[in-house]
Amino acid sequence: MPRKARNMPVRVDEVSNPATLQEALLFLKRYPEAVPWAGGTLLMTDSAAWPEGRGTAILDVHRIPELSSIHRTERYIEVGAAYSLSSILALPGSSILDPLTQAIGTIGNAAVRNLATLGGNIAARGRFMTSFPALSCLDASVELRDSAGVRWHGIHKLVGPGNQPSFPRGTLLTRVRLPVAKWDSIAIKSIGEKSFPHPDANAFCACARYDKGAISDIRIATAGRVLVRDRELELTLAGKHLPLTRRELVTFATELAALAYALSASRNLADRLEAYVTAFLARSPEYIS
Ligand SMILES: Cc1cc2nc3c(=O)[nH]c(=O)nc-3n(C[C@H](O)[C@H](O)[C@H](O)COP(=O)(O)OP(=O)(O)OC[C@H]3O[C@@H](n4cnc5c(N)ncnc54)[C@H](O)[C@@H]3O)c2cc1C
Repeated sequence: MPRKARNMPVRVDEVSNPATLQEALLFLKRYPEAVPWAGGTLLMTDSAAWPEGRGTAILDVHRIPELSSIHRTERYIEVGAAYSLSSILALPGSSILDPLTQAIGTIGNAAVRNLATLGGNIAARGRFMTSFPALSCLDASVELRDSAGVRWHGIHKLVGPGNQPSFPRGTLLTRVRLPVAKWDSIAIKSIGEKSFPHPDANAFCACARYDKGAISDIRIATAGRVLVRDRELELTLAGKHLPLTRRELVTFATELAALAYALSASRNLADRLEAYVTAFLARSPEYIS
């Protein structure tokens, strides 16, 4: 019998191990509260990943071929949701997916990454996991399937009210589309002393592109209990020459920190985010080639 974190046993009423997507969707239609099981590395360590209540059905997604597929074009790489984190790191030229690959490299250890999947990292219910800020900055897309059909959405569709995670029940994440892009400057860090599985662990991602001594694109996100990202604020820096003035830098960092505080009510998160953003923006000129 699987066990929730803190040794709370889970009563499993039904298990399905389908070989086709169609079978999986039929099972989900019958048991909309079923828990998809990919690597199981989060389900075995985080009680928030399980639905409330006593009995549950488990849908093992390992044998579904579409979830392990990979497709590359010049503009993006599309990976099946059950692709393991270590397989993504092992893709030829995987650094083209930075900052995502850098974020994945910080998750667990090699043994965990061999089992853990990208889909499981994205579809976590209780909180955003380490890859989410990088996926937000990349503007990744997700393919979702349920009994009503199949549709592609931007990754932010999985962000609900209050910027909290809202992966829909009765839905399978089947593929993730990752745009390939070159960034001049990338920072990936965990925020604060808390690390997984602490509920206050937060991941930070910043990336920027420069052209002729000015910022041409900049994206900054942090995620844990909530996602903090403000595209409009990012756009205020587009075209600004480097180094930024003290005023530009402070205005940006304090506004993003204020948003973090409004969403999380955590002074600690807001203060640390402000410090990280300030450091990233102040160091940016070093990265101009
Ligand atoms: C020692 C250790 C350290 C860890 N460190 C980190 C860390 O630093 N950062 C971090 O982010 N995580 C960490 N984890 C947690 C975990 O390894 C990762 O989050 C991993 O990516 C989860 O993937 P999985 O395939 O194991 O997901 P699972 O545990 O199988 O599933 C996770 C959630 O996603 C859902 N799900 C899975 N696949 C699908 C799908 N295709 N469609 C719909 N829903 C789906 C499940 O129902 C569940 O709610 C750690 C785990 C361990 C054991």
